[in-house]
Amino acid sequence: MTNPQTTSDKSAAYNEGASPSGDVQVVEPHQPPRTTLSDGTQIYPEHRSLKENGQQEGYVVLAEEERAKGFVRPVRRSYVHQKCGVVTTMGQTLAETYARDPYFYSGTFCCGCGKHFPVGEDGEFVWDKTTEKVGT
Ligand SMILES: [Zn+2]
Repeated sequence: MTNPQTTSDKSAAYNEGASPSGDVQVVEPHQPPRTTLSDGTQIYPEHRSLKENGQQEGYVVLAEEERAKGFVRPVRRSYVHQKCGVVTTMGQTLAETYARDPYFYSGTFCCGCGKHFPVGEDGEFVWDKTTEKVGT
């Protein structure tokens, strides 16, 4: 004679794998893009110290893998300081950082004045041979 088990396992099956609250943590803290100095070396605290020519010892740029994600502006290396009319040419990694993120910098160097001035909509620089403001 058979004596079949009659216990029900329905409820167990239904509950399996269900997420009781749905309150799963998927939001990760925002990671700022990695940055380096313009020659690819690590940023050190005193990189903003000014050299005799008025330039900083080092300039921060977006790291290589960040720039590799694509540019939203053309890569332009020369800009004009509208106050003095002198053209300043910067290094490739700085130019690519502007192209990747036009709002990355708040100011830039003029080699005519030997000082830094603001960029952006109210800034003092345009890209060479354009009327387009640097940092916009
Ligand atoms: Zn100038």
